[in-house]
Amino acid sequence: MSVLIIGAGIGGLTSGYHLRDLAAGWKDPITDDSLGLWIAEARSEVGGRTQRLTEPDWIGDVDIDMGGQDIFFEDRPDYADLLIGSDRDNFIQRFPSSVPWVNITCAEARNNNENPCEKAEPLNCGKKKRRQICRCETDSVLDIETIKSTFLKDELLCSSDINFFEALARTGRSRRNGGTCQDWCYKYGASFTSCDASSNCNQDDFDRGDPDSSLPDFSLGSFVKEYLYKPIHEDVMNNTEIIEINYESRDKILAKTRDGHIFMVDQVVVAVPISQLQKKNIKFVPGLPKVYKRNIKRQGIFTGVRSFVEFADNFYSDATKFPNALGAPDDGRGFEKRYYNAVRGYRTNKNIVTIQGNRNVYLTDSSRDEIVNELLNDLDKAYDGMATPSYKAAGSKNYTRNYADEAFIEMTTVDRKNTSIGESSNFYRAPFDGRIWFVGDYTRNENGNKAGVSGMDAAKNLFEKFDCKVKCEDDPEWTWVNPNDNDIIDCKKIAETETDRFKLCKKNGNIGGITVPAKEGCPKACLVCLEAFCPTD
Ligand SMILES: Cc1cc2nc3c(=O)[nH]c(=O)nc-3n(C[C@H](O)[C@H](O)[C@H](O)COP(=O)(O)OP(=O)(O)OC[C@H]3O[C@@H](n4cnc5c(N)ncnc54)[C@H](O)[C@@H]3O)c2cc1C
Repeated sequence: MSVLIIGAGIGGLTSGYHLRDLAAGWKDPITDDSLGLWIAEARSEVGGRTQRLTEPDWIGDVDIDMGGQDIFFEDRPDYADLLIGSDRDNFIQRFPSSVPWVNITCAEARNNNENPCEKAEPLNCGKKKRRQICRCETDSVLDIETIKSTFLKDELLCSSDINFFEALARTGRSRRNGGTCQDWCYKYGASFTSCDASSNCNQDDFDRGDPDSSLPDFSLGSFVKEYLYKPIHEDVMNNTEIIEINYESRDKILAKTRDGHIFMVDQVVVAVPISQLQKKNIKFVPGLPKVYKRNIKRQGIFTGVRSFVEFADNFYSDATKFPNALGAPDDGRGFEKRYYNAVRGYRTNKNIVTIQGNRNVYLTDSSRDEIVNELLNDLDKAYDGMATPSYKAAGSKNYTRNYADEAFIEMTTVDRKNTSIGESSNFYRAPFDGRIWFVGDYTRNENGNKAGVSGMDAAKNLFEKFDCKVKCEDDPEWTWVNPNDNDIIDCKKIAETETDRFKLCKKNGNIGGITVPAKEGCPKACLVCLEAFCPTD
């Protein structure tokens, strides 16, 4: 059995880690070969969207996340569940508890207490792409012609009356016909918040998941590298971008790299961000069926910015939120700005604040300096001007990564609310063509981030099925030619066939010109390897 995993993020690495474990001591009954495993990673390092922050010198040995971190696992045992045997024991011993973020109340978490209605001045309308404010009268009705004739492209209706509802609309979305003003703005991805200062402090909005876990002095990026990557590092090839998956042949799948190398394998695990599939950066030959194309296209995604600033002292709460802030509407999809103590529960004297990076799409148009200035201005407003002096006293240290600019990992997370796929959440659990597995956050759209779990599931299902099929492939001589399409069916094909295996097993094929019923030519495929033996999912 040979497997190529494309992408070494938490999904791909978990897949590889489990496959190696499952196939330890396994031998192909026909060739006597052990598992052939390759993990192709396009970037120069593994981890994908989970990374430890290492670049700025000032961070020292503080091990915090630059990419995905919180909410990823609902609790510490979820990390352990990805691990096997002594790795798992070691992990549990090393991290007997996690850092909870439970029940951060308004009293603990500081808000920007400015009246949001005062902030959204009409002057800001149409100022910057993705940052337009629109204000709409609740009962006004607009049709698309009025919108077209009255407003410039990408400008939205503004009103100076602060008693009206307000909404912030992202542009660049398809415009459908009008409706009420709310409908119209909603179609741009906006929703309405009334200008009510009391909504500034809403305890529910501070819940980061209950319970939510981060590990003390240890990032998710380090977890991925130490526990998942290390045991299989010899299987990983960095700087290896796959650009084509050719599955025309029933025998082997051919996967081509950008520099012309071709992997010939039995199974492929596609563990790249769905943004890469949406951009068609990997070509499938033949093309994927419509249902896959639809699922890929209709998956909503976010990008975002992660920024860190060091302060001389801790003048701030563990969470600071700016509801309804200009450019960051609290529309229930997490667009509001949130700043967090990045070293909560850590043993460090450093004071580091980070902006939650997985959804703040509105910041990706800003420069790094603009982002840091915005962070400082916000915290100055929330904490009586203490942020900027404290930042300067610590030596003006900051670090920002704009994920929208990153190659191969340009998205941050999935936008479940803007996802309109018709299929059930089980859609990606079965392999496409019996040989191509999809792994990643988008393959488990229920809730929580199951990128790692999806990798583990794929490894288990793949191994079970493949091992079963190999065992089911018996007499290589037996063939039956399908008169409808001249397709040559052999025992291997019968073993791989999931739905019509029984029909094929009724055919009379031949061995060396002699007619032999399938049940005699392929006894394992037709008699031994029944559904119970070869489970279909
Ligand atoms: C700033 C930020 C904050 C986040 N916050 C949260 C959070 O709070 N909670 C949460 O649950 N999730 C969060 N996430 C999302 C989470 O990190 C991801 O969902 C998760 O890491 C995805 O893992 P993955 O293995 O599916 O994909 P990835 O980590 O993206 O790994 C895919 C890998 O494939 C590689 N690749 C791409 N194309 C190719 C190719 N053609 N050939 C070879 N290799 C290729 C990439 O380089 C990458 O290494 C956040 C992400 C970011 C960036």
